[in-house]
Amino acid sequence: MRIVVLAGGIGGARFLRGLKQAAPDADVTVIGNTGDDIHLFGLKVCPDLDTVMYTLGGGINEEQGWGRTDETFQVKAELAAYGVGPGWFGLGDRDFATHIVRTQMLGAGYPLSAVTEALCARWQPGVRLLPMSDDRIETHVAVDVDGERKAVHFQEYWVRMRASVDAKAVVPVGADQAKPAPGVLEAVAAADVILFPPSNPVVSIGTILAVPGIREAIAEAGVPVVGLSPIVGDAPVRGMADKVLAAIGVEATAAAVALHYGSGLLDGWLVDTVDAGAVPEIEGAGIRSRAVPLMMTDVDAAAEMAREALKLAEEVRA
Ligand code: GDP
Ligand code: CA
Repeated sequence: MRIVVLAGGIGGARFLRGLKQAAPDADVTVIGNTGDDIHLFGLKVCPDLDTVMYTLGGGINEEQGWGRTDETFQVKAELAAYGVGPGWFGLGDRDFATHIVRTQMLGAGYPLSAVTEALCARWQPGVRLLPMSDDRIETHVAVDVDGERKAVHFQEYWVRMRASVDAKAVVPVGADQAKPAPGVLEAVAAADVILFPPSNPVVSIGTILAVPGIREAIAEAGVPVVGLSPIVGDAPVRGMADKVLAAIGVEATAAAVALHYGSGLLDGWLVDTVDAGAVPEIEGAGIRSRAVPLMMTDVDAAAEMAREALKLAEEVRA
């Protein structure tokens, strides 16, 4: 079975680990979000691609959900001693090596997709990890600071400001000019099932869908498209997804997110058991829905979610 998964960072990566356990023989292609990418200290950092790669490759800091295991921060301290920032983005010593290799290869002319493949040769994530695009796309968030509207990089909004002010708009800068990376449209066209893990609907999955051609390819693939809600009990399980949902006028509920994707894109949507009351509304909108436990407390729980998603996919296929 060929499965295509659109993934952000933590939510996507943890779900993928469950999917690999649930469907060990499946051929999984991951289309990763690159709207979070940022240049720091002259280095190209791809947080979501790395979170997927480290999580599936066994190198992730498990408690944190991002960054390397057994990490140290000597380089960061030395940079700070030079007064060189930003200090708000935590890059550890082990992690730095990944960004150095990536930046070196990009400088030598390799596209991001080839660089990602090279990095994955070490990590062996057991999936084919593709960036959504080889072109530069950077998510910016419009905020009001001291009565003035300004745009900040998504990481500055998320990590430095901790989404403490309202997001007025979310813009994937460069997306309209971007092309899907090699292999992306081919993987979608060849898929038997397409899954949206519990990733951020705006700045992870929304950004991937903003690359011209990807949304259309998914809608026209003619195979089941099933998603899992990142919103449980009217709040994000982790992080501040409610802030960026508000920016696009979508309520932070499992049903509102399903309706935002819409029946033109989504065939099935899993909500958590606490949101079972939302099922009729979602089904009323033409999206098959089931309520099952959606908390990825461990790999087994994530695997059970993946089994439910594949089961719902077979139901809508029939
Ligand atoms: P990021 O790039 O690291 O922010 O990660 P993603 O975009 O892949 O996923 C973030 C989303 O995952 C957040 O909106 C969380 O609510 C959601 N999430 C995290 N853990 C869980 C979980 O155990 N269950 C569910 N249903 N959602 C989760
Ligand atoms: Ca992310």
